[in-house]
Amino acid sequence: MPRIRVLPDDVANRIAAGEVVERPASIVKELIENSLDAGATKIAVDILEGGRRLIRVTDNGEGMLPEDAVTCLVRHATSKLYNSEDLFSIKTLGFRGEALPSIASVSRLTLETQAAEGIGTAIEVAGGQIVAQREGAFPQGTQITVEELFYNVPARRKFLRSESYELSQVTSYCTHYALAFPEIQFLLKSGSFEVLSTPAVSDFRERIFQVFGSDLLDELVEHQREFGRLGLKIHVFTSRPHVQKYNRHSMFFFVNRRLVRDKIIMHAVGEAYRNMLPSGTYPVAILFVTVPFDDVDVNVHPAKTEVRFKHQGFIHDSIRDTIVTALTSDKTIVAMQATTNSGSPYGLPSPQPRVPDSWAGDDPILNAPFTLQSPPVVLEGQPRHLELSFGQLSEASPQPAPTYADFDRVKLEVRPLGQLRDSFIVATDLTGLILIDQHVAHERVLFENYLRQKLAGMLEVQRLLMPIVVALPPRQLVILENIVPELAHNGFEVEPFGPKTVAIKTAPAILKAGAVEKLLRELLDGLERETQVMNIDALKRKIAASVSCHAAIKINTPLDETRMRWLVGELMKTDVPTVCPHGRPIILRYDLREIERAFKRA
Ligand code: ADP
Ligand code: MG
Repeated sequence: MPRIRVLPDDVANRIAAGEVVERPASIVKELIENSLDAGATKIAVDILEGGRRLIRVTDNGEGMLPEDAVTCLVRHATSKLYNSEDLFSIKTLGFRGEALPSIASVSRLTLETQAAEGIGTAIEVAGGQIVAQREGAFPQGTQITVEELFYNVPARRKFLRSESYELSQVTSYCTHYALAFPEIQFLLKSGSFEVLSTPAVSDFRERIFQVFGSDLLDELVEHQREFGRLGLKIHVFTSRPHVQKYNRHSMFFFVNRRLVRDKIIMHAVGEAYRNMLPSGTYPVAILFVTVPFDDVDVNVHPAKTEVRFKHQGFIHDSIRDTIVTALTSDKTIVAMQATTNSGSPYGLPSPQPRVPDSWAGDDPILNAPFTLQSPPVVLEGQPRHLELSFGQLSEASPQPAPTYADFDRVKLEVRPLGQLRDSFIVATDLTGLILIDQHVAHERVLFENYLRQKLAGMLEVQRLLMPIVVALPPRQLVILENIVPELAHNGFEVEPFGPKTVAIKTAPAILKAGAVEKLLRELLDGLERETQVMNIDALKRKIAASVSCHAAIKINTPLDETRMRWLVGELMKTDVPTVCPHGRPIILRYDLREIERAFKRA
C-alpha cells in the first residue's frame, strides 16, 4: 500500500486557512483587498463581537457572474493571474486564489454578488461546502458575510482574544487601507458604533486629516522624491522629532499601495530618526513606496504582507535619505530637548499648569509651586549640591557598589543631606549613604495614597476650567470606549466630542491640567501595546501608576530641606519603598563598610 496521498481539497483549504485566516482582522484584510481589486469606490465593513459573530464586507465593485461566484470558492481560483510569468509583475492586491476558500472552510460564509450585466447570485457555504445557492437581483457589487468564525475548528477559536482586542486589530487594517486609498470611501462599524468613516477625498493629506485629525497632520512633514534610474518613488508623511510614540502602531508602510510589514523599511525609518528620538520611542510615519512591479516580489508569505525588493539596499537608503531630507528641510522643527519630555506629545504648547484648588491633602510637594519657592536651605557645613564621585578612588581599591536597599534597615533613620543635580536626594542612615530618585520616590508615595483614597471612595476630583479636547486615532478610540467606566471611577469624565475627538471634563485633583492629555495618550499607547487581555485589576493599577507618575515632582527640581524630609518620611511609610510602580529602583545604598574599605580604613 503506498503511504503518500494527495490531500483532499477540504483538508488543503483548512491548512491554507491556518496561514491566511489568523483572526477576524486577517479576514477583513483579505475581503477589503478583494473589493479594492474589484474596483470598488465604497467599502463598508460591519463587525459584531469583534468579528467572532459576524464580519461583513460590502462593496460596489464589478461583482461576479453566477459561474464565477461558484468558482471563486475553489482553491487556487483567481481572475488575477493567468500564467507563471504574471507572478513577477503583480498589479493586484490578491493573486493566490486562496482567501475565499480558506475563509469559507472555517466559517459560515454567505456571498451575494451582482455584476453590471446578468443575473445576481447568492451562495451559502458552511465549513467549505456549498449548502444553498439561488439567483436574485442585488445592488451591483459584492457582499461577503462571515459568521461563526472557527465554529468547526475549536482549537483556533480558543486563540481569539477579547472582543476589544480583535476589534482594534480590524480597525488597524481598515485604517491602513483607508490611508492608502483616499479616493475610496470606507466605513467601519462595530454594531452601531461608527469606528471609522472616511468619504472619498482627493489626496493623502485630506485622508490623514479624516483619519487622525488636524493636530497630528500639523505635526507631519510631507516629502516626495523620485529616483529616476530605478523608477522608484517615495512619498512620506513623517513626524517632527518632538512627536514621540511609545509603540510602532503609528507607522504605516505601503509598497505599491499594498500594506507591508517590512524590516528593511522599519530599519530605514529608525536610521533616519537616530539621535533624534530617545530609544524606545517611535515617530508617526506614513510611507508610500512605488517601485516597478517586477522589482518587488510579493509572493513571499500567504498573508502577502511581506515583500522582497530586488534592490534592497538602494530602497533602504533612499527611504532613510528622503526622511532625513524631509526633517532637515523643515524649518519649523523645534530644537530638541534631549531628556525633558514636557508639553503635549505633539509638542504643542501645553495649557498653563494650574495648581488644583480642591487639593486638600497635606502633600507639600504638590501644594508648592516649585518655580516660586523660598531660597533653598543650606545645610550646615555642607555644600548644597554634593558632588559624589567614587570614580577617583585609587585604581587598586575596589569601588563600593551601590546595592538595592533592604528596607527594614533603611527605615531606621534616614536623614537627607542634600540633592545631587536637583534630582537625587543624598541621605544617610545609621549604616551608610543612600541615594533616592526623587521622582520615582514621590511616584510611589502618590501611588499608594491614590489606591487607598480610591478604595475609601475619597478620590478628589477637579472639574477642568475648559474641557480638554483630544483627537485620537480610531484604534485608540476603540480602546478608550472600553475603559471609559474605569476612567470615570478614577475621576476622568471623558465624553465623545466629535467623530474622532473626545473631551475630558474632569480629572483627579492631584494632576495639573497640563498633564491630563499627555497622561491619556500615554495610557492608550500603553494599552495598545498590551498583548494580553488586561484584567480590571491590572487596568486599575495602570491608571493609578500613570496618574502618580504625572503628578509626581520631576527630576531637575530643587527641593528644600523640609520637602526632602517630608518626601523621605512618606516614602518610608509606603509598603514598597524600594521600587516605583513601573518597577524602577527608588533607592540605592552605599554601605558604610564598603565605603570604609574603599578608603582603606577597614
Ligand atoms: P485572489 O484575490 O487571490 O484572486 P480570492 O480567493 O481572494 O483570491 O478571490 C478569488 C476570486 O474571486 C478573485 O480573483 C476575484 O475574481 C473574485 N472576487 C473575490 N472577491 C470579489 C469581490 N469583492 N468582487 C468581485 N470579485 C471578487
Ligand atoms: Mg483575494
